[in-house]
Amino acid sequence: MPSRQNPPEKMMFQLTLRRRGISDQAVLRAMEEIPRDIFVEPADRDDAWCDSALGIACGQTISQPFVVAYMTEQLQVRPEHRVLEIGTGSGYQAAVLSRLARLVYTIERYRTLMGEAEARFKQLQLGNIITRFGDGGEGWPEQAPFDRILVTAAAPAEPKTLLSQLKPSGILVAPVGRGPIQTLKRYHGDGKGGFREEVLCDVRFVPLLDGVAREL
Ligand code: SAH
Repeated sequence: MPSRQNPPEKMMFQLTLRRRGISDQAVLRAMEEIPRDIFVEPADRDDAWCDSALGIACGQTISQPFVVAYMTEQLQVRPEHRVLEIGTGSGYQAAVLSRLARLVYTIERYRTLMGEAEARFKQLQLGNIITRFGDGGEGWPEQAPFDRILVTAAAPAEPKTLLSQLKPSGILVAPVGRGPIQTLKRYHGDGKGGFREEVLCDVRFVPLLDGVAREL
């Protein structure tokens, strides 16, 4: 019999991630350790372990688990890293990153989402996540440079301001494009101030918007 910590839907969740090509053991473990059901709307709890994106407050979305795992794997996070995430949303991606990195800085432009995410981090005792309500497009200059930057909203073009806050040999992963489908790109610092750009796959993210939200 599966134990309570390992219900069948959670085992399927891991299996789906493996089958779809996630092979980094540390990433798989982090995905296993973070209870996604805490991050979805109460009405969606039964669907929390399905491999699909779900709606959250403020008209935003919690990404599909495979996309979270894939972006995390492509970011190549190590235990000593300080990681910046743009677009806290539910807080799920930040929580997964917090299991892999030393410190996670995350920025959200909706106060309501930020507050709810902070409550979840507290509940799960994830003490290495530092939050900020603000415009993530501007990054977090006071805490820069970062080893890794993950953008979880679609940037209209190359995110230059964020790239300027990356360490010389750092990695930034971001969906880039203006349409409903964007290109997931990975930028590797070449150690000399330049970047090597790699195209990873097509993705669907909500847009990275300017400024903070005026509504709650
Ligand atoms: N990482 C989230 C999902 C991201 S959805 C999770 O794991 O649940 C994208 C989020 O980016 C939304 O919450 C949206 O409000 C936020 N966002 C969009 N533009 C932003 C900006 N300029 N600064 C900060 N957050 C932004």
